[in-house]
Amino acid sequence: MTKALLDKIVDLAVRRGIFFPTAEIYHGPAGFYDLGPLGSLMKHNIIQYWREFFILRETKINIYEIDGSIILPYTALKASGHVDKFTDPKTECRRCGRIYRADHLIEEVISISVEGKSLEEIEGVIAEHNIRCPSCGGELGEIKPHHLMFKTEIGAAGEVAFLRPETAQNIFLDFKRVYYSMRCKLPFGIAQVGRSYRNEISPRQSLFRLREFTQMEIEMFIAPEDLNTHPSFDEVRDVKIRILTREEQLKERPEVVEISAKDAVEEGVVPNQYMAYYLARETQFYMSLGIPFESIRFRHLLPEETPHYSGGNFDLEVRFSFGWKEIVGNAYRTDYDLSTHSRFSGEELAVQHNGRKVTPHVIEPSFGIERTLYALLEFSYSEDERGWPVLKLPRRVSPVKAAVLPLMRKDGLDEKAYSIYSSLRRVPNPCYVVYDDTGSIGRRYARADEIGVNLCITIDYQTLEDDTVTVRDRDTKQQIRVKASELMDIITKDTLRPVIG
Ligand code: AMP
Repeated sequence: MTKALLDKIVDLAVRRGIFFPTAEIYHGPAGFYDLGPLGSLMKHNIIQYWREFFILRETKINIYEIDGSIILPYTALKASGHVDKFTDPKTECRRCGRIYRADHLIEEVISISVEGKSLEEIEGVIAEHNIRCPSCGGELGEIKPHHLMFKTEIGAAGEVAFLRPETAQNIFLDFKRVYYSMRCKLPFGIAQVGRSYRNEISPRQSLFRLREFTQMEIEMFIAPEDLNTHPSFDEVRDVKIRILTREEQLKERPEVVEISAKDAVEEGVVPNQYMAYYLARETQFYMSLGIPFESIRFRHLLPEETPHYSGGNFDLEVRFSFGWKEIVGNAYRTDYDLSTHSRFSGEELAVQHNGRKVTPHVIEPSFGIERTLYALLEFSYSEDERGWPVLKLPRRVSPVKAAVLPLMRKDGLDEKAYSIYSSLRRVPNPCYVVYDDTGSIGRRYARADEIGVNLCITIDYQTLEDDTVTVRDRDTKQQIRVKASELMDIITKDTLRPVIG
């Protein structure tokens, strides 16, 4: 493949309606993307699969999903620390006026991380290494904090508020209501899928650094003494996870440690069973979506990258064509959020557990949907012998499960095909099936492969005689002849087929 994979995927995505820039006809601002018809189907499928995987099958611990408000009041985000601390360092070129995210610029130019350093220290690094504007070579100005939250106003009085920077905050704010309304007992979880907003300095890499994105988050609330007794831990104890430890990151050639979830807890590589449980389950989740084991690792964030209250953060990173990038953040947030909200609001947020009051500790897996969607596109992208794209998407999340294609648009083949297509759509809980009768059959197969349609169903002259059709598999290109009446069953089974390899 000659062209960079990222460019090929962006081309395909824009051309075929997976994603494209927001307000494109007005050259809208960077960092905003709309999901098109196929992207929004994929997003829907990813959320549904995630829900099944992380919420519904969790039968030993209840996890409740909420759907909270995007606009949150100043007071709540002041308490959470976002008003004061949610910033990135920026610098402006004194000559051309371009603005850069200072820490990223330093990393790109001299490969040094300045995570956790003060603004003065960052300025010192820029001066010491004489880093200049990459665009015009001009001198870079003072380092200033850039606030990442989008500010807004509520009502006629103009009360200051913000768009939420993470979905987690609704969960902490709603903790007490959910606890009492659902008659909870520790441990339990609250989850939320929804939009988050960060006014990034320099959005980039298409879906990677957005200003508006979607998270799927779970906050698990656990009594501190129970952090090492996850009731379902036995299910994952032997699952291997790949961890990039803090020690290894300091070496010139860091190596990933491959370890079972059980050993990771016993050897203190991860802080507790709940964290290990999620690292194992996330490995299984992404592998079931076609990301190879070797392309997944959990990076233990260094002390300077970790908030002071955290008991350990592990980023799930995936090896993309442009390097290792985080797609899920896992944080052991201790009792920080509930304690702080309790202090600021004056509400009691401790709960009864074994006859005493406990402020629960929190393990938080936080998934980014757009990054996950991009990962699935990158790992499923391939080209056939003619160089045409084939998206070998995991069956579960591919946008279109089957395309119904009459061999030709005459002799009643099209009517027959249309009636089969309608019958597949008009059933309870239908799969997403499309009808296509334009162009040669070869062209239509290629168009279907390009967007990852799992199966192509062709209606030919034999169908008119015996009601059988051919079913072509996207990945093997093999065709089988089946009864039209069996199609629904075949499509459903195919959708649930696990990823092979
Ligand atoms: P964080 O709270 O920063 O650990 O973010 C949790 C997850 O949200 C990340 O792993 C990403 O998948 C996603 N995410 C965070 N920031 C962005 C962004 N600017 N654009 C797209 N996804 C993001």
